[in-house]
Order: sequence, then C-alpha cells, then structure tokens
Amino acid sequence: MTKLGEISIDSKVIKANAAARRTYDDKRIIKDREKLKKAIEEYLEKANQTDLEEDEKYGAEERGDELPEDIEEKEKRINRMKEIVEELKQAQKKLKASGKKKINITDEDAQFQKDGARIISGYRAQVAIDSKEQIIVANDVTNEQNDTTCLIPMVDQTCENIREFKKETNSDDEEKLKIIADSRYNLELNLAELEERKEVDAYIPDMRDQAKRRGKKTDEDSPFHMRKFILNREENYFICPAGKRLNYIKQKKHRNRLVSIYTCKECNDCQYFGRCTTDKKGRSIWLSEYAHLTMKMRQKLSTAEGKKIFGIRKITVEPALGNLSQNLVFREFLLNRVFLKL
Ligand code: SF4
Repeated sequence: MTKLGEISIDSKVIKANAAARRTYDDKRIIKDREKLKKAIEEYLEKANQTDLEEDEKYGAEERGDELPEDIEEKEKRINRMKEIVEELKQAQKKLKASGKKKINITDEDAQFQKDGARIISGYRAQVAIDSKEQIIVANDVTNEQNDTTCLIPMVDQTCENIREFKKETNSDDEEKLKIIADSRYNLELNLAELEERKEVDAYIPDMRDQAKRRGKKTDEDSPFHMRKFILNREENYFICPAGKRLNYIKQKKHRNRLVSIYTCKECNDCQYFGRCTTDKKGRSIWLSEYAHLTMKMRQKLSTAEGKKIFGIRKITVEPALGNLSQNLVFREFLLNRVFLKL
C-alpha cells in the first residue's frame, strides 16, 4: 500500500482541555496574591464606608444590614475571593511538588505551546507520514515545547514500524529511508544522531538556511559573521575579514557538544572594532564539533535532488495535518491528562 521510502515528519499543537488562565508560576502567584490583597482592602474600605453611611441614616443602634439589597452580590464577591485563595494555595502546592517552573492546575501535563501567533496550553502531536499515500506510519503526543527533542524518538519509531512492516510483507527493500522535516527539527545534535543511523538519509534544513531560501536576511549576511572567517585546518586557526589571526585557545563542553574556542588579540586597534566585536578582550569564535554536519546538510539540500525531496513535505505531511485539523476538526483534547493516539 505504501512506498515507505520517503517519510515527512511534522507536528501540530493541540489544545489541552484546560484554560490557559489556570496556568501558574511563582511570579503569577505573587502577582495574584497582591491583586487579591488590594481587592480585599478596597472591599473592606467600601464596607466601612457603607457602615458609616448606614449609621448616619438609621442610627448607630441599628445594624443597617438587616435587609440589604446587595447581600447576594456581597456573598458572591466573598465566595469568589475564597475560591481565589484556595486556587492560589493549590497552585503553589502543585508547583512545588512538580518541580516545574509553570503548571496548569486543571491539566498538570499540559504546557504553554506556541501555535502560530497564539500561545495556548496544550500538547504537540507528532506525525510521520509516507509520501505516496499520506499514511501515518508513526505518531506521538508530547508536552515538549519545541520539536527538536521529538525528532529522534519519531525517527526511531518510524524505523521500527517500517522494519516490522517489511518483515510482515517479506520485503527485501534495502533502500535508505528518507526523512524530511523542516528547520524546527534541526539541531546539530540531531544531525549527529542521524549520522549514526545508517538506514536513514535526512533532509532537514537549519533555520538560517531555510530563511535564506525564502529570501529573508539572516545574521550570516553580516560581513563579520563567523562564516566569513577562514579556517586553516592544518594549523588550526581562523583568519578574520581584516586578515588577522584568531588562535585556538581551548575546547569546552557547551550544550552537550564540544566547542573549540579561538580568539583574536589584535582587535583593539582594528578599524572594524565596534562592528565585528565590542569585547575589549578581542573577538572570539566558538566552533562546534558538529558544524561540518550543518554545512553537509546545506550542501545536500542545495542540489536539485535535495530540493525536490525536501519539497515533498509540502504535499504530504502538511495536507495530512490540515485534514486532521480542518476536516476532522481535531484541534482540542476533550479529556484531561489522557494521551490520545491520533
Ligand atoms: S575586530 Fe578583530 S577579528 Fe574583527 S575584523 Fe578586526 S581584527 Fe579581525
């Protein structure tokens, strides 16, 4: 039924059955407590004022509230205040117990998710779809707030499902699986992981490359971006646009990868000081151990075949997600704390 040679991965934010206003962090708890304190003070002040006015009207002996017209309104306000106190207590308790920075007290697993211009409390549904029939070959629902961490689990699940499928159908197809995803899934560490998976051939641009291909400007257009510096691999130093040397200083671990640090000692007298760097210690370059993988991916995506393969996702995974959202109207979970499979 399916060709299972080209798989596009994409995600869709799905709203949790929980209102965003019930999401709390420490800052909001403090702010809400202050607001509540102010509201109580204002309420008491108003009540005192009303008492004085009633004393004047009925005399101090009468309580004046025997048959108040707004008793219902008063009760409502007091009950609402009690509810807020209770909710804030609950939020603080749950926040502390979870160890998270933010928590939605209706659905504790839901996270704030960026969905276009909106921020909603929800989940990210991941799908891997084959290019021929738009069959979903792998799926997941996570509360991760971005797609980068979801790529490798999705690739592994896809490979596993396809291995099973091939076994069941006695397929001897040895062709590498082409994995196509947009720049939200690109991370150097992901590219390094994918290099290890010999059955996979990935087509995933980085943010800057994707922006450039859409005709947008990026920081790489600056004449002082690190890509404008020339690396001498043999002697391990960079040459800057002013022709000065940036020497290798050391290696260190940064965001789970090794980076080599190079610095220039001649920046203070340079005519470009202030544009290239404002650091009095001189310009430095941090070169990741996986930087070559980004260049390799760019190279692959710039070929006619690379462009054609990457273009597939537009006519496979995007319509499939559109179908789920528009035709099947699946935009929101109807239960709390239950992971539904697509
Ligand atoms: S500021 Fe330093 S690194 Fe930048 S161009 Fe001048 S000498 Fe080169």
